[in-house]
Amino acid sequence: MSHVKYAERVENLAPYPFAAIDKARAKAKAEGKDIISLGIGDPDLPTPDFIVKALQKAVEDPATHRYPDYAGRADFRKAAANFFNKRFGVSFDPASEIVALIGSKEGIAHIPLAFVDPGDYVLCPDPAYPVYSVATGFAGGKVHRMPLVPDFNFTPDFEAIPDDVARLAKMMFLNYPNNPTGAVASKEFLADAVAYCRDNEILLVHDCAYTELAFGKDKPVSIFEIDGAKDVAVEMHSLSKTFNMTGWRIAFVAGNAHHVGGLGKIKTNVDSGAFDAVQMAAIEALNRYDDPAVLKNYKIFGSRRKRCEQLLDEMLIKYLKSDATFYVWFQTPTKESSAEFAARVLSTTGVVLTPGSAFGHTGEGWMRIALTVPEDRLEEALKRVSEIL
Ligand code: PLP
Repeated sequence: MSHVKYAERVENLAPYPFAAIDKARAKAKAEGKDIISLGIGDPDLPTPDFIVKALQKAVEDPATHRYPDYAGRADFRKAAANFFNKRFGVSFDPASEIVALIGSKEGIAHIPLAFVDPGDYVLCPDPAYPVYSVATGFAGGKVHRMPLVPDFNFTPDFEAIPDDVARLAKMMFLNYPNNPTGAVASKEFLADAVAYCRDNEILLVHDCAYTELAFGKDKPVSIFEIDGAKDVAVEMHSLSKTFNMTGWRIAFVAGNAHHVGGLGKIKTNVDSGAFDAVQMAAIEALNRYDDPAVLKNYKIFGSRRKRCEQLLDEMLIKYLKSDATFYVWFQTPTKESSAEFAARVLSTTGVVLTPGSAFGHTGEGWMRIALTVPEDRLEEALKRVSEIL
């Protein structure tokens, strides 16, 4: 016990949804259940070998053992800019327009501190990765939720945002390809988002954790492929899902020097950069983003996605068909709330699903599958679920 009470920002904080799911899973496991976790978006496939080898080599050099550069190594930022140029056809000055992040979660959590004053609004999608709204609250900002619904292809309807909210809004988070829905945004939608943010003087933060995890012939686009986006947007790119490197904690933000510099200024005061050896391995990854070892992993996720969609079709369950991300967003097939359904599925079958409500109110009525188990386990999981429907 302590006589020191938590700060209000912690007192008022709901438990991180995935921590709660982890706890329920641990309990079911302790009861002897064979757990199949389709809960957390953490790839089961290893990091490609050439990236692991690059880390092994880098870590042998004592120069990597010291404090890194705050904004990232010059050669890492150059590799990030080259990747951007080759993949999206957009140029950035590595010295002023790219900053390394200790995972994109870190960048998302810190960016409101650079741009949001107490009382400012931040426009957050709902359902969404929970960090957007929590980080807004930490900065004293107010969250305005933009519902993502099937009628609008799981993209926000900007016309539904009240004028007084738009006037006080400083920042908007968007994330395509989307977690949790798997939706991919059209270039037209992204152009509307840029126009809306320009008209309302809002910084658009586009979270691109899943741009590479796409299985169709047209790859998802960057916001910077839209004319004028550099004036209004930053984009976070993570190596976590792109290269199965979730544990390595490495990502970067790209944008104009003013926007990227604002986040950089916060970071110099709260962290001391990403481990140099990890950055050196990340350079290798970015330079070889189309290496067969990387593409092979996307193929595996794409094939799991197809199989999952087939099985949901057979179960007559409605879901969003997509060819990006390793998430499948499906409608709760019973009258239970999504949390009740998830709890019953876990306690009776040992299968972990994430209830849509963990991502926001609009997620109620939906469930998320993360395709992070081999195909035979996925089949087994869905068979168990179908047996209790
Ligand atoms: N953004 C989205 C939408 C995510 O789903 C995740 C992780 O699941 C992240 C950001 C964070 O990724 P990382 O911090 O590993 O780069």
